[in-house]
Amino acid sequence: MKGITAAQAAMAVGGKVIYGDPGRRIGHICLDSRKMEGDDLFVPVVGERVDAHRFICQALAAGAGTVFTSRQESGEEVLETVTDQCKENPDWRGNALSSTWICVDDTRLALQAFGAWCRSRTAIPLVGITGSVGKTTTREMVACALEAGFSVYKTPGNSNSQVGVPVTVFNIPEEAEIGVIELGMSEPGEMTRIARVAQVNCAVMTNIGEAHMEQLGSKENILKEKLCIQEKMAEDGALFLNGDDPLLRTVVPENSRKKILYGLSEGCDCRGIDLHLEAGYPVFTAILGQEQVQVRLKVMGNHMVSNALAALAVAAYYGIPMERAASQLEQFEGFKGRQQIFTAGGVTIIDDSYNASPVSMKAGLEVLSSMPCKGRRIAVLADMKELGPDTIRFHQEVGEGLADMTIHQLVLLGEWAAEIERGLLQAGGKIPAVKLASLEETRQWLSDCLRAGDCVLFKGSNSMGLSKAVTYLRENL
Ligand code: ATP
Ligand code: MG
Repeated sequence: MKGITAAQAAMAVGGKVIYGDPGRRIGHICLDSRKMEGDDLFVPVVGERVDAHRFICQALAAGAGTVFTSRQESGEEVLETVTDQCKENPDWRGNALSSTWICVDDTRLALQAFGAWCRSRTAIPLVGITGSVGKTTTREMVACALEAGFSVYKTPGNSNSQVGVPVTVFNIPEEAEIGVIELGMSEPGEMTRIARVAQVNCAVMTNIGEAHMEQLGSKENILKEKLCIQEKMAEDGALFLNGDDPLLRTVVPENSRKKILYGLSEGCDCRGIDLHLEAGYPVFTAILGQEQVQVRLKVMGNHMVSNALAALAVAAYYGIPMERAASQLEQFEGFKGRQQIFTAGGVTIIDDSYNASPVSMKAGLEVLSSMPCKGRRIAVLADMKELGPDTIRFHQEVGEGLADMTIHQLVLLGEWAAEIERGLLQAGGKIPAVKLASLEETRQWLSDCLRAGDCVLFKGSNSMGLSKAVTYLRENL
């Protein structure tokens, strides 16, 4: 968003310019003092462990021009802080003294207020994407389908939180005709806060699973929280709901907004039928109103069919003929770390290392077991994090589910590896399992044991670091 001044930002958030030039323009927003682009507004967020106010002068030295602060209330206090923070690095002083400081009550809330204000200055429709699993993948597929008719802006990376969404909204380029914004939530109240920032025109809800059970307690609570995406949603907007999800199917949108069900089940407005696999890849017919089209995906698994139907439904809502949207989607090859399929040294690798929850674990394993494969199907599985008190049960259930699958070898890593194995054995599964103590051991096992023709799935929560094993294989096989 171009041309916004510090004075306007201060006004938008109910703050006050306490030091420097109120006419200074803001080019970017940045929350990390090591990643400045120049002309940034640096927002020092107060976290549980670190208060980023202590990095203000470092951020100014690195290219920020304006800062929000809740720790200084006057020009004199700013000068004291500059003296203090530049003591060890006198070369920071010049930039720090020529910057602009805006005093606010709470930097995180001010960031959200600023995001909401920026959003209200744009007229483009925004499609919000939420759900427990598959937001990023669905966002990419919705954006891909919309590209058949529009210049599309989408959330970069995984910037879907209460601090990420305001930055995403600020960055909407002038030339964009429509935006696809990912909205995530991990604690009560977060969806309401980000929905107020994004003020979406319509929203897609992918599913209600167990992710963030730890913080929210039950699936019903998770659903209730996610429905807060309707806060500040356009009155004539629509909710696109996964009709294969029993909880989402029953949702009644607020204020008579449209309800559009997508999925494979009967009664879905945008429905997939005749689903079958060709060389492992899904082929299906999508039906919506009078339109009908056959779709051949380059990504695997029924969940991708579901995401594709969401994308077709949204594209149709914005007037794109289904045939055109479908041919766009047929080019979609997956998004990094979310079931991206590639080969290295004759081994097929399914890189699903970005995250894991019971729903996506099942989806990933189903893809592996249906993959055409000359050698062995090997699942390298690591812990699923943030699942709350039922963590053990969820891991055992993964093992139980494996019992019927055509998978030849399990490689297990992490605190809950034994629970996956226990579930497998209890269900009578016979897949051999090795439990490894570290990523290093995992890498070693893979280098020693993989053979051309094998197909390997990597799946675990991001913090388990399986992506490093994938990178290693990509470079060394
Ligand atoms: P995060 O909460 O980290 O932002 P997310 O909701 O954006 O996650 P993705 O990163 O898109 O989710 O996908 C996570 C995993 O779920 C990947 O393995 C992906 O292939 C799989 N997945 C994608 N779509 C679905 C779906 N509709 N149902 C189940 N699993 C899915
Ligand atoms: Mg995501």
